[in-house]
Amino acid sequence: MVERLTHMGIRRTEVLAAIGAVPRHLFVEEALRSRAYDDMSLPLGLGQTISQPYTVAVMTQLLLGEEPLSQRRRVLEIGTGCGYQTAVLQALGLPEIYSIERLRPLHERAKQHLRAVKLLQQARLVCGDGYLGLPEVAPFDGILVTAAPAQIPLPLLQQLAVGGRMVLPLDDGHAQFLWVIDKTEQGFRETCIQEALFVPLVNGI
Ligand code: SAH
Repeated sequence: MVERLTHMGIRRTEVLAAIGAVPRHLFVEEALRSRAYDDMSLPLGLGQTISQPYTVAVMTQLLLGEEPLSQRRRVLEIGTGCGYQTAVLQALGLPEIYSIERLRPLHERAKQHLRAVKLLQQARLVCGDGYLGLPEVAPFDGILVTAAPAQIPLPLLQQLAVGGRMVLPLDDGHAQFLWVIDKTEQGFRETCIQEALFVPLVNGI
């Protein structure tokens, strides 16, 4: 899988190593385990999906940008799902990771998955509305949104540190595109990256 990702343009060695270190089959249901290392999204119950490995790799690589890992100390993920992306952030060795999931059964299952792969140390999993972020912990050096809203959630923009970066899919009603939002001293810089496919970000629990 890692070799395939290299061919697909994932260059950051830390990202490839982190993906190589997380056993993806332990994050999917038993019946789907034989397909866990194919480059496809898989159902994870309650109408949600675990993103395809390429998407996780792209999002993670974009989150880091050209910066050293030390620039992304405190990171927030919206949409824990099965916890696979959270595990990849852990495997990168980021010191402070928060992840919010609105569906309690998925939140509980993600905790079990992360415990099973011994990657729950630095991650704090929260069950709640990710649209609101975590104002009590902000600001974040990185925010990764793994479900698609129509517009950038304002609370998340407000919780981004100067020098921080948000990676999120936006759905304009016809198509979804992945965006990178950088917060600089002068304000926000928005860059459209590529087409994307995520489940919708639900606004309000
Ligand atoms: N990162 C996940 C992908 C999960 S799919 C993984 O690696 O498996 C997106 C998830 O976002 C779903 O589990 C969905 O329930 C969740 N979600 C949607 N709207 C949300 C919201 N407002 N707050 C928190 N989670 C939300």
